[in-house]
Amino acid sequence: MTQIEKIRLLKLLYQYRGMGFEYFKEYKPLSQKENFALPRNLDELKNAVLKCHLCALAKSRKNVVFGVGNLKADIMFIGDNPGVSEDETGEIFTGRAGEMLTKMIENVLLLKREDVYMANIIKCKTPENRVPTPEEVASCKPYLMQQIQTVNPKIIVALGSTSFHHLTGEYDTPIDKVRGVVMNFGKAKLVPTFHPSFLLRNPSAKKEVYADMLKIRSML
Ligand code: SF4
Repeated sequence: MTQIEKIRLLKLLYQYRGMGFEYFKEYKPLSQKENFALPRNLDELKNAVLKCHLCALAKSRKNVVFGVGNLKADIMFIGDNPGVSEDETGEIFTGRAGEMLTKMIENVLLLKREDVYMANIIKCKTPENRVPTPEEVASCKPYLMQQIQTVNPKIIVALGSTSFHHLTGEYDTPIDKVRGVVMNFGKAKLVPTFHPSFLLRNPSAKKEVYADMLKIRSML
């Protein structure tokens, strides 16, 4: 084993220990080619993310929820963290919140669900659906950034506070103060709005999200 491989192994062991593992059975050094091979497309990225153990959420998840959609979508919806039904199925925006988002896409944006791209800030469910920690987001966000870079959408819709805060870094700005505001995000425009799960608990906020969706439609 080379010195570099020993350092990598040590780092890996510390990571595993930090995640609560006490031992693991076998270590196979990666070939030089594998070590430096970055995913070249979203299929390769997805394969890598499905095996990700970069943060402790890997221990409690049932499925990684990578995201899905049109790779040439004009609109990308970014939610927060997978919920129970997403964790069960590995599919994003399922359950009642997913149905509501689908209705908004079809009835207000006049698009099909397959026309847009959907992803979350982090890919694994958090215990009790708590807000992800900054460390969890730091581990996972590079995957999302690669999805954004690949899809290259015209408009990013940040669904809910967690999404808005971690995309923009504006952690002290409540989402109800910026909802519907069009912001710059690299080459794209970013529009924050409420998460469909919030609308299920607060149906009176639907009219505000409806107005945001009309604005988004006018930007297409
Ligand atoms: S949340 Fe992200 S970084 Fe953490 S284990 Fe899942 S895929 Fe990996």
